[in-house]
Amino acid sequence: MNYLDFQNQRSAQGRIGTPWYQARTIILLGPPGAGKGTQAQRIAGQYGLRHLSTGDMLRDNIHCDTELAKKAVRLINRGELVPDEIMLSMVQERIAQPDCKNGFILDGFPRTLGQARGLEEICCPYKSRATTVLNFIAQPELLVRRLMNRRICKKSGHIYNLADHPPIHPGVCDMDGSELLQRADDTEAVVRERICLYERHTRPLIEYYSAQGVLHEVEGMCDPESVTANILKVLNRKDPTL
Ligand code: AMP
Repeated sequence: MNYLDFQNQRSAQGRIGTPWYQARTIILLGPPGAGKGTQAQRIAGQYGLRHLSTGDMLRDNIHCDTELAKKAVRLINRGELVPDEIMLSMVQERIAQPDCKNGFILDGFPRTLGQARGLEEICCPYKSRATTVLNFIAQPELLVRRLMNRRICKKSGHIYNLADHPPIHPGVCDMDGSELLQRADDTEAVVRERICLYERHTRPLIEYYSAQGVLHEVEGMCDPESVTANILKVLNRKDPTL
């Protein structure tokens, strides 16, 4: 048995609380283009947490042409939200997988108050986990430009920005030479719709998590290294709820 398994077993037996650095739920809140995906990729490895992007899960479903994709594809391409029941059952199934047992980073979920309340219910079996919500602050006028310039490595999912962080060779990933793709919903009209829906449905979650005392603000529009450094300062506090 390794150290983490040992600690998990002891926690489950109720002899000690879950150590602050493991079995943690981190929720990344913020408008589309605020840098949640980039930062989730950067911090997941450092903390041994699974990065769960609900947008990526939905795109995987579309790629595999599943039943779920048939219900969701038109909504996603128009930038609209997929219904809460579908999202909650997808997330519930995913977080029950063994690779999530040491905690996870939710990127793009919850996006509505219904999803936030539902998340608390589906997380009941993991109640001892500390929850930290990082709210990415971003200026709306910069988001459209950022998303229209976003390119994603087809293989690794590594994120580039043609204006601020271009690849060395146009159109290919610096890490593995794979093709860089633009998402179908990163067009100006769809990005504007996604930002509107964020304002209407997701912004209220700031108040919701703030009232629970678990919300931390992160300036999302500076360079990615500084954003990561600020996030690590929050996460490295012994008690992340402070
Ligand atoms: P994202 O990759 O997070 O920008 O999500 C891409 C698209 O997937 C969104 O514009 C929505 O159509 C859909 N989506 C992702 N996460 C959610 C969610 N939590 N609730 C509803 N729809 C979602």
